[in-house]
Amino acid sequence: MGRTRLLWQIFPSYLLITVCSIMALTWYASRSFRDFYLDQEAIGLESRAHLLEPQISHFLIDGIATRTDSLCDLLGRRSKTRLTVILPDGQVIADSERDPETMDNHADRPEIKEAFHGAVGRSMRFSNTLQKNLMYVAIPVVSGDSTIAVLRTSTPVATIREALSVIYDDLIIGGIAATILVALGSLFISRRISLPIEEIRRGAKRFASGNLRHTLPTGGAEEMSTLADTMNQMASQLDDRIRTVVQQRNELNAVLSSMVEGVLAVDREQRLISLNQAAADLLSIDQEFAQGQNILEIIRNIELQRFITATLSSNEPVEGEIELHGDSDRYFQAHGSVLTDATGHDIGALIVINDITRVRRLERMRTEFVANVSHEIRTPITSIQGFIETLLDSDDPQTPDTERFLRIIANHAERLGSIIEDLLSLSRIEQEAESGEIHLEKTELRPILVGAIQICEGSASEKNIPVQLVCRDTILVSANQTLLEEAVTNLIDNAVKYSEFGSPIIIEAVTEDEYVVIHVRDRGSGISEEHQPRIFERFYRVDKARSRKRGGTGLGLSIVKHITQAHGGFATVESQLGRGSVFSIHLPRIDTPS
Ligand code: ADP
Repeated sequence: MGRTRLLWQIFPSYLLITVCSIMALTWYASRSFRDFYLDQEAIGLESRAHLLEPQISHFLIDGIATRTDSLCDLLGRRSKTRLTVILPDGQVIADSERDPETMDNHADRPEIKEAFHGAVGRSMRFSNTLQKNLMYVAIPVVSGDSTIAVLRTSTPVATIREALSVIYDDLIIGGIAATILVALGSLFISRRISLPIEEIRRGAKRFASGNLRHTLPTGGAEEMSTLADTMNQMASQLDDRIRTVVQQRNELNAVLSSMVEGVLAVDREQRLISLNQAAADLLSIDQEFAQGQNILEIIRNIELQRFITATLSSNEPVEGEIELHGDSDRYFQAHGSVLTDATGHDIGALIVINDITRVRRLERMRTEFVANVSHEIRTPITSIQGFIETLLDSDDPQTPDTERFLRIIANHAERLGSIIEDLLSLSRIEQEAESGEIHLEKTELRPILVGAIQICEGSASEKNIPVQLVCRDTILVSANQTLLEEAVTNLIDNAVKYSEFGSPIIIEAVTEDEYVVIHVRDRGSGISEEHQPRIFERFYRVDKARSRKRGGTGLGLSIVKHITQAHGGFATVESQLGRGSVFSIHLPRIDTPS
């Protein structure tokens, strides 16, 4: 049901109030008029009675009662008033309308009774004599101290009604005229009240439909003008804010669409809130179609879904790599962070993806190239080493220089051999890790560490270095035994290499939060802080000459790093120059942390 307009709410109320007031006023006025008219009529009747009373009194005292009737006849006709004279016993002796002989005893009439009690009697009732309603006024006719008769004047009520009806007609006409005037006036006032409100309503509707430039007129009553003024201010502020928001949105869109990185935002239910053109291109999805859809329906990739789930459940920024399978495999580096609204509530996640397919391909090419080259060089180097050994072991006499040169060549060939072995080992680990070929199994850690110590036993005892192992038998890891042993061996080998004669080495395995950590401690030369961040890079050596002298290839720690990563862990170093180092391998725990 439609709502009534304000005008049609104000106007009828006004009209109703006014019509009721006029009706009440008319009713009250007509009653007052009637009362007043009846009073006047009674006063008139009483006056006429008083005028006649001396004459009647005179006739009665003189005993010429017969003349009373003819006097009443005459005066009654002239004054259009019925005149009656009644004796104290109730007998009617004169009446202007009827023969008194035929009339009943009037002693019981109320006005007569009152008049015999000395007052002016008034009454209005039906006259049996004249068969109509009459107004009666009776006064006592007095002689000396006694009432000798009652003179009654009366007039028909119908006459009074006729006179009153003329007044009533006038009052009704006046009332109707006043009602019409008031109705027109009410309509005019109602319109004056409702018009500004109507105008503000129309203005508010325009604001709501987005037209905020239009201003409302501020004239009229103070309240209306203040309201219009406030609404105009509100609209202008809203307009400013909307423009700022639109401008910011456009800027943001411009930034997002000019980004090379793909940006996508999802809500907590993993529905896509927005994505830029780069993301649409990288993930080969339709930007328009994708909005609001669940990410799983658009991109069927379990890694991406896992990454988004991890981002949504993490308070920290998340980093990871995603592989997208298709006609040609593609690799992305992804950064995820939680999206929060103005109140700080999580509303979803923002994912930034970078296409690293080219980098990956180049890396693979490099690995393959290094592996191929190393492989190709290995055979000639082995034969060179073989020939040198043959020459050195031969019984033919050699000049001291020849022998010295042969030993130098043998040293270099051995170094080259070590580098090639390390390079091949590194390439193998990288390739196997990338293709997921590294087989991990649940195994006890202690035997692996014991194995690594045994491998280094020779070099350690050469320098009289005691190697201590601290590891509970119960510690389990998910590992590739050979690789993990290789990594620990490299660390022990380094510790031996860079420690002084007799300086002890401790290998300790502990469980910390989510990791099993293998520490290899030495009290050797230590590494200054500036070198520590780069120590795990390929061929990075703090002191090249010293490393070379000790048979180092600069690849040992790089191998450790790759092996640890292949196990889902990481390697760290803590060291102080001149005081020793602690190299640690962190492996994910497979038993639940207590
Ligand atoms: P290298 O074959 O030269 O030892 P690594 O990759 O194993 O190569 O080590 C890189 C460099 O880190 C070394 O050259 C050495 O300077 C430093 N380093 C490694 N382990 C230790 C250690 N335990 N104490 C001091 N320096 C070390």
